[in-house]
Amino acid sequence: MITAVKGTQDTLFPEIGRWQRVEAVAREVFHRYGFTEIRTPILEPTELFVRGIGDETDIVNKEMYTFADRKGRSVTMRPENTAGVARAFVEHRLHESPLHSRLFYMGPQFRYERPQKGRLRQFHQIGAEVLGDAAPGTDAETIGMLVEFLQKAGVVGIEVVLNSVGCPACRPVFVALLKDALAPRAGELCGDCRRRLETNPLRVLDCKVPSCQPILDAAPAIADHLCEACAEHHAGVKRILAGMAVSFSERARLVRGLDYYTRTVFEVTSSALGSQDALLGGGRYDGLLEEIGGPAMAGFGWALGMERLLMVVPPAPSGRLPWTYAAWAGEAAYERTLALARHLRREGHVVVMEHAPRSFKSSLKRADRMNVKWVLIVGEEEVASQTYTLKDLDTGEQEALSEASLGARLREKTP
Ligand code: AMP
Repeated sequence: MITAVKGTQDTLFPEIGRWQRVEAVAREVFHRYGFTEIRTPILEPTELFVRGIGDETDIVNKEMYTFADRKGRSVTMRPENTAGVARAFVEHRLHESPLHSRLFYMGPQFRYERPQKGRLRQFHQIGAEVLGDAAPGTDAETIGMLVEFLQKAGVVGIEVVLNSVGCPACRPVFVALLKDALAPRAGELCGDCRRRLETNPLRVLDCKVPSCQPILDAAPAIADHLCEACAEHHAGVKRILAGMAVSFSERARLVRGLDYYTRTVFEVTSSALGSQDALLGGGRYDGLLEEIGGPAMAGFGWALGMERLLMVVPPAPSGRLPWTYAAWAGEAAYERTLALARHLRREGHVVVMEHAPRSFKSSLKRADRMNVKWVLIVGEEEVASQTYTLKDLDTGEQEALSEASLGARLREKTP
């Protein structure tokens, strides 16, 4: 048997219905904020991620699906979508088009991680990006849109956690301070932290190893060491968020995994998720477009994992599907059933019929296993009398109805 690749999964009905509902809510909310959808390729030049995400990140270091194509060019299956959006933005000169400065996407992303609950190798993200607007209101409004979306999707216990990671002017000063502050106790930190202290010191703050926590908790907070412009930006974001009645808290050690972030970084957690895992994260990336060869332009965005979101949205409704299984027996009944199904579908009802002959007993069994609510029974007698039997599988009740009244009756009975 050929099975799915490790860390990937198939999504079937009715579970797919939850995906579609969440996606529909996302589209509806984002649309009202003037965001338009962008679909970028799954395959991108490897260099895009090396430059855009940073070669000292876990993603680029260890997690990318990278291979040489037939002409020996290195391509990568996107591990995230911001770099691709930024690439498209630059390539199509979208900075000349104000209509395209607010973009959203949904689609699969690929990371070679150790699969576990909520962590897959092919996972799916919904994300939004605002390009070209450096003002703090962008950060606040985009976070506000996200919170509106999560609430509409039915997520409870949302918490927005905020921090600022400064900019290329103030961050190096803070990083030097951080290194000095941690140096005396570096020997007590885990191996990853010690390595990061050399390669990417800010990421040390992100460490989850329990023995590192007291040391890192005592480290200086970057928000206390921002340059004036970054401090003003950070204050602006908080002020506007508060004005929008979006509640948030600050977390000094929040730094996020990708190198391209500047100023605002944030995560959203949900009490329903249980563990410490973030539902989603995002932030400002004012250097990214320039980094990949575009104009010096601001950017702000977030990405959420669908699989993780689906752990905290209400389950699919249980109970029978409000569908009709059309069961028939005999040649004349078959022709009649085809016509009845056509008629009912035109009226907006869901009708399933199978075309290989089978007994009514077998049809009823299949309808029950399909978990539909109604069976329409069309036999010789029904054809002769032109009244059809509608059986409700929940109650076992049967009614005889004419073709003209069937549709209306189904509509009345639909929960
Ligand atoms: P990141 O791009 O790492 O900031 O991740 C953004 C969000 O994507 C996370 O908060 C998760 O919800 C989701 N995510 C990231 N990696 C995975 C993964 N391997 N499997 C499932 N979801 C993921």
